Amino acid sequence: MPRQIVGKGLRLTLRHAPCAHICRYCLISETRKGSALPFARFEQLVHRFYDWKASVGRDDLGIGIFVGPSFDYDLETLRGVARLRARRGGKFEILNLGGLRIRRGDALVAWLEERQAAGIVGLHTSLAGCDETHDRWNGRRGDFDYQTTILRLGGERGMVRHERLFLTQNTLAQFDRLLDVLDHIPGEVRNRYVTLFFYAGLASRYEDERITEEIRDRLPERIGRLRQGKFQDWRSEREWIPIMMETADKPRKLVLKLDVHEGNIDQLEKSSCEAIFTERERLYQESYRSIPSLGELCARYGDPTSRKVYMMSRDVEGRWIDRHAHETGGKPPID
Ligand code: SF4
Repeated sequence: MPRQIVGKGLRLTLRHAPCAHICRYCLISETRKGSALPFARFEQLVHRFYDWKASVGRDDLGIGIFVGPSFDYDLETLRGVARLRARRGGKFEILNLGGLRIRRGDALVAWLEERQAAGIVGLHTSLAGCDETHDRWNGRRGDFDYQTTILRLGGERGMVRHERLFLTQNTLAQFDRLLDVLDHIPGEVRNRYVTLFFYAGLASRYEDERITEEIRDRLPERIGRLRQGKFQDWRSEREWIPIMMETADKPRKLVLKLDVHEGNIDQLEKSSCEAIFTERERLYQESYRSIPSLGELCARYGDPTSRKVYMMSRDVEGRWIDRHAHETGGKPPID
């Protein structure tokens, strides 16, 4: 029996602001190319989805957006993203530094201060080690310096910061120095956490960099205490398997992604939200038709001896699906 899929939400994405990184662990490398669709049309479509969700009482359905791949927005887009975030009851006030173009000196300060005046109160950085190691993971020489320069400028202006620090085999030894550098930057650290690579996108090529149970269980306290937030259940494949099998007969609940661009906007504008969602769900179900049930995937590809550590059961399932696609010559399902 194929894997059953149920859509638990829709994430509308717009490739609007180009990304100036080439991260080796990028989850969305295929969407780094920009779209010519004006933001205003995208925004209108998303507002319509929020109106529809409210009018039909679909409280169970999450409607989300991703306007990217970088947050290098002009001010008009920034305000538009804030309006959409407000529809979910949230605020858009933390700016992600991933993939920003290089700006220097006065131009950088002016850029930052303009965003602060527009309501941005903090900055989010993702760092994979320090110096050349980070630069190599992110595909841009000098990026570690650039990230810390912006954090420093922000801190000096009262902006808070969020820091996501990747833990891999090759960043582990650099953590002390990384934390020392970050601790010397002025300003409030509102959120600092250690993360592993998800098994997705380009990151799936780096299984050799994945930490093991042994490393996890002996992490220095200074790193271990940063294991927090949504994905703090770090388990090895052998530890995930029994947990996954408890719910193996349940459908996989997915947030369905919909890339909105100049090629499909006319059609989307003519269609009802209900029809768009139903069609998206149908396409996902169709793409999962050749994927065996979770129990079957596990029996064929699961490794109950593997001590490599993952943050989500979905990462482990992703590996099995990839192996299945590889062995059968089929296409992996939409993700
Ligand atoms: S900044 Fe984000 S979108 Fe750009 S390459 Fe890195 S991970 Fe991918």
